[in-house]
Amino acid sequence: MPDDQYKSETCALRTGIHRSQFNEHSEAIYLTSSFVFDNAQQAAARFSGEESGNIYSRFTNPTVTAFEERLAAMEGAETCVATSSGMSAIMACVMGLLSAGDHIVASQSIFGATVNLFNNILKKFDVHTTFVSATEVDAWRNAVRQNTKLFFLETPSNPLTEISDIAELSALAKQSKAWLVIDNCFCTPILQKPLELGADIVIHSATKYLDGQGRVLGGAVLGNRELMMDGGVYGFLRTAGPTLSAFNAWIILKGLETLNIRMDAHSKNALQIAQWLESHPNVERVFYPGLASHQQHQLAMRQQRSGGGIVSFEVKGDKEAAWRVIDSTQLVSITANLGDVKTTLTHPATTTHGRISQEARDAAGISDGLLRLAVGLEAIEDIKADLVRGLG
Ligand SMILES: *Cc1c(COP(=O)(O)O)cnc(C)c1O
Repeated sequence: MPDDQYKSETCALRTGIHRSQFNEHSEAIYLTSSFVFDNAQQAAARFSGEESGNIYSRFTNPTVTAFEERLAAMEGAETCVATSSGMSAIMACVMGLLSAGDHIVASQSIFGATVNLFNNILKKFDVHTTFVSATEVDAWRNAVRQNTKLFFLETPSNPLTEISDIAELSALAKQSKAWLVIDNCFCTPILQKPLELGADIVIHSATKYLDGQGRVLGGAVLGNRELMMDGGVYGFLRTAGPTLSAFNAWIILKGLETLNIRMDAHSKNALQIAQWLESHPNVERVFYPGLASHQQHQLAMRQQRSGGGIVSFEVKGDKEAAWRVIDSTQLVSITANLGDVKTTLTHPATTTHGRISQEARDAAGISDGLLRLAVGLEAIEDIKADLVRGLG
C-alpha cells in the first residue's frame, strides 16, 4: 500500500495490514516464537540475510512489524523498532548508538527512570550525562563537550509541562554533531511530530497514550534507517532481547486506531479542567500549555496541535492540602500512571519525585502542594465534582 499518499489519521487505520490466507478484516495476532523454513537452503538464506523473512520472534514477528509500520507512518519516520517498554526503548537507543567515553546532554525534567538510567547505569559504562534546564538553550550550548553525542529531552516536561523549542535545539544539536532524541510520550504523533521539526530520533512509551487503556507495556524507537539499523538500535534489541511481544503489539496496534480522536478528546477535557482550576480560589497556580497564562504558551501552540491531556496544579497550603484532594476523590484513580482513558491523579513530591532531595525538588519547582492530573475521557462535570470535594 503506498502509505505516503495518506494522512496520518488514515495510516492509523490502514497501514501495516498484511492479510493471511483467511482474509481477516481485523489484524491477526501471530503468537509464535519461531518460523518454519521450506528446506535447508531457505533456512541458510534467511540466516545469511540473502532472503528476507521471519526467523524468530526476538528478531521479527508479523504482528510486531504491523505495529512498527503503522507507528512509523504516523510519526513520519523511515523506520520504527518496537520494544518491550518505554524504558527498553531508551536503553536500546543509548546502548545502540553510544560507546564508552561518550557524553549526553539531557533535560533535567525527564522521566525518573530515565534519570536513573543515565545517572547510575550508563555511568558504569563510562557514558556521562550533564542535566540542564529544559527551556534554556544557552544552558544546552554551554553543556556541550567535544565528546557530546546525544541530546535527550521530553516536551512538555513532567510534571510542570515546560516546553522545549525542538527546532532551536535541533539546530544546536546539528552544530554540535549530536543526535537530538525526543521522548514524545506526552504528545504522541497526533499532537507533535518532532522529526518534522528536526529531531533525529523519537522515543515512545507505548504503555501510555498509544495503548491508551492501561493494558500493556510497550515502547518504540523511530528514526532513519541508517541510525536504527546500521547505528545499532535494532542490533542491540535483537541481541539483548527486550523486544515487543506479538500480543502486546496487537493491543497497541488497535490502540493506534483511535489515538487521533482520543488525543483531541483528552486535550479538550484537559483545557476545560485547567481553565476551571485556574479560577478556583484554593488553587495557587495551574501548569497547562493550552492556557494563555503558561510561560511558553505561544511556542506550545506553534509546536503542538493542542495542549495535551496533562494538567498540573498547586493547591493553596502544602502537602496536607494536596493529599486532601487525593484522598477525597471517589472517581479518579490514585495512580502515577498516565495516558489512560480513565483520569489519574498523583502527588509528585511523594511519589514519582519522592526519592530526590528536597533541595533538588525545590530547584525543579516541584512543591509539596503540586498535583498532576492526567485528564481522562469521563464527563467533565464528574471530574470537577470529584476534585472539588477535596479543594473545598
Ligand atoms: C512512562 C514513561 C516512560 C517509561 O515507559 P515504560 O513503558 O513505563 O517503560 C518514559 N518516558 C516517559 C515520558 C514516560 O511517561
